[in-house]
Amino acid sequence: MIERIVHDAEVQDDPVEVELEVTLRPKDFVNYIGQERLKQNLQLAIKAAKKRGDPLDHILLYGPPGLGKTTMAMVIAHEMGANIRITSGPAIERAGDLASLLTNLQDGDVLFIDEIHRLHRSVEEVLYSAMEDFKLDIMLGKGPSARSLRLDLPKFTIIGATTRTGSLAAPLRDRFGMIHRLEFYNPSEIQKIIERAAKILNVKLDRDAAASLATRARLTPRIANRLLKRVRDYADVNGDGIIDSDISTKALELLEIDALGLDVADRMLLNAIIEHYRGGPVGVDTIAAITAEERGTIEDFFEPYLMQIGLIERTPRGRKVTPKAYRHLGKTTVENSAPDGQANLL
Ligand code: ADP
Repeated sequence: MIERIVHDAEVQDDPVEVELEVTLRPKDFVNYIGQERLKQNLQLAIKAAKKRGDPLDHILLYGPPGLGKTTMAMVIAHEMGANIRITSGPAIERAGDLASLLTNLQDGDVLFIDEIHRLHRSVEEVLYSAMEDFKLDIMLGKGPSARSLRLDLPKFTIIGATTRTGSLAAPLRDRFGMIHRLEFYNPSEIQKIIERAAKILNVKLDRDAAASLATRARLTPRIANRLLKRVRDYADVNGDGIIDSDISTKALELLEIDALGLDVADRMLLNAIIEHYRGGPVGVDTIAAITAEERGTIEDFFEPYLMQIGLIERTPRGRKVTPKAYRHLGKTTVENSAPDGQANLL
């Protein structure tokens, strides 16, 4: 697999990347750029909960990686004046792990569960009653002598994050009082995020360079921050550390990130569908097979952005590469090249 700066899951485990994310993470609504409608809804819910002295309803945030779900969960906890515990679906292996997490919370605390669609079924079932009436049902012992025990829990808030609501069991989804989708950002919001990050990191960046980075960051804050960091490295080595549009263009060329923010792997994916399947429609499993990527990676990382900018469309028979993608790659569409319907691309 190609190493990618745009969306390589492993990069997230890199301590330098983690450090960068911690430093750049906005702490409150004022510094959280974009997602205006979501912020308005949440601000209202927070105000109402505070006024009533209640904990906040459970919240499910969904959308592609890097759009700010974890950050938003932290902002919510901050605005509620609450503590936040962070975990993830796969990290909670047994019902007992969940029990110990929940019994250690205090009234009003937030438990953030990333990748909540990957919770084990046995854990998920325990979570139902915990979310619904703040009770924990645990089984003691096994077989005929098994007894169930009901514990009272503090009044906590679960914030779940997922890249796919479709993979979430309906009973779990139904227990969230608020379900919100995070949208891709627009380029001017991404530009603001880049300028804010540059200020925090003490990077000198001119407006044109910020604008050019903003159009290539896949409308995603995490990628915007990473691009800024890579371009800063380039400026430090090849210039005087100041990022202008010349430096940013050269750095992006070196990274092989094109004007739409696509990298080598995206272009390979589009080319594979065009060359092997005449642009589609083709099923996602087939795309995974021809690109040697996992199905989940195609669905979570590649597709959402490629669809957002109109390079791929979803049809009942599978994914199709659009004429815009053909133009972007400098290729002739099947229709254009063969008016009689006979494809002659291959
Ligand atoms: P997700 O949980 O959706 O994968 P994160 O919350 O981890 O995404 O966000 C990735 C990084 O992007 C954060 O470290 C933060 O620096 C930055 N970020 C996300 N959303 C925003 C925003 N609205 N404004 C500024 N920076 C943001």
